[in-house]
Amino acid sequence: MKWFVPLLLLAGCAGPLGALRVATPLTIGDQAFTLRSTDKASADTHRIQSAIAKATPGLQRWGGLKEPVTVYIVDSHDDLETAVRRHGFTWLRAWGRYDDVIFQAPSTWTTKDEFVEQLVLHELTHCLLFQRSGTRDTWYLKDIPLWFREGMAISTAGQAKLYPSLEDSARWLQQNPTLNAFRNGEELSEAQSTEVYGLGLHAFEFLLRRYGEAHVNALMSTMRAGGDFEAAFEKVVGIPVERFQKDFENYLRLRAFRGGSRRRLNAPPREGGPLRYQGTE
Ligand SMILES: [Zn+2]
Repeated sequence: MKWFVPLLLLAGCAGPLGALRVATPLTIGDQAFTLRSTDKASADTHRIQSAIAKATPGLQRWGGLKEPVTVYIVDSHDDLETAVRRHGFTWLRAWGRYDDVIFQAPSTWTTKDEFVEQLVLHELTHCLLFQRSGTRDTWYLKDIPLWFREGMAISTAGQAKLYPSLEDSARWLQQNPTLNAFRNGEELSEAQSTEVYGLGLHAFEFLLRRYGEAHVNALMSTMRAGGDFEAAFEKVVGIPVERFQKDFENYLRLRAFRGGSRRRLNAPPREGGPLRYQGTE
């Protein structure tokens, strides 16, 4: 699938990644990283390095990384787009895969370390998801949908403020009844990344609230044992993804997140069982 072109194909000497000749090893706990940049002593390299050190504890929630990660720091947004072979994605700042991440040099887009730290944790969460859901040879075959990948990364990195609120997402869903951000997240994200990522965040957090962190960890290990996302989801959560999507969309439409008179909608379902709304639909 085009979204997951293995980075090896992109790391040829002629491309922007080939120009990153300075390698800086970094070990945080028992986790190994290699930073690749044009300048070991640059402020950008230091900022990414310190953000990695701050990010790794946040990954323990999901069991931590399993493999060493190579971190590329390219000098410009153009270099990032060239390296990932996607163009016109002006909002893109980084690109994470199984065991590597490419970052656009932070100095080209922000002065705030907080944003860099969140972005680094976000991207390393992607690496963790892929490492825990598959092997180097199988991770990109798991068809993990964008709503789950981005929802997990945004949630873990504490980036909710950068995305639409639950109310905004509910309104967007109602104004775009024919769009299916669960199934067509990749295509929709090209023009409406903020809305699609926001919906992914709220869907992931809805999953977390209903089923808990243990289900997310079980989902990853079930994928790693074999099968793709859809099969693993149904096995672990107990309902097909489509059913979960309907439950989530009802939760938004009914504004069940507001509590109050609809508080009963927030009652937890039986473990692994389908949600049963008692409100009007
Ligand atoms: Zn992401």
